[in-house]
Amino acid sequence: MDKMDKEILFSRDAIGRRVQEMAGQISDDYQGRELIVIGVLKGAFIFMADLIRALAIPCKVDFVRIASYGAGSESSGKVVLTKDIETSIKGRDILLVEDIVDTGLTLTYLVNWLKERNPNSLRVCAFLDKRKRRKVSFEADYVGFTIEDGFVVGYGLDFNEQARFLPEVYILKQEDVEVKE
Ligand code: 5GP
Repeated sequence: MDKMDKEILFSRDAIGRRVQEMAGQISDDYQGRELIVIGVLKGAFIFMADLIRALAIPCKVDFVRIASYGAGSESSGKVVLTKDIETSIKGRDILLVEDIVDTGLTLTYLVNWLKERNPNSLRVCAFLDKRKRRKVSFEADYVGFTIEDGFVVGYGLDFNEQARFLPEVYILKQEDVEVKE
């Protein structure tokens, strides 16, 4: 971990402010309704914890876990669900919360899979968005920050299970990412 060469991208304060803004927007959009917020494990757990505590509307929470098979930091598109939700979402308003959208393959899979259970509405909230790396067209409804290419860690995002606990977001220097691949 100490050897991980990284640069800060978003400070604790900047993240805190943006999460408050997003929660404000979501609360306005869903006024008078109750959300079911579904987090994608593990990466989204810190963002989701901060986001729901800043909401001005009630919500229930659930989680999915997925395994994405691919080499190193590259997603292959072969997404497999390894933990299902435990709540019925039929006729409910769903907010799917993810740490980062990269190729768009994971969220495309999850959105299609959730839609089969006939929710009343389904929107996606992503903390980070690497728009330029899409392999399939995918738009999240709420995005914290749009970033350029590069591998980021911290605030729930890991590198080989390291760095999730960091309260800031960092970008790894290229050499470190190549070691993983
Ligand atoms: P996608 O299917 O959109 O290519 O990939 C989304 C998943 O890839 C994210 O949930 C995350 O697990 C992983 N991912 C993509 N980019 C990064 C990154 O820069 N840092 C980390 N830690 N994970 C990433």
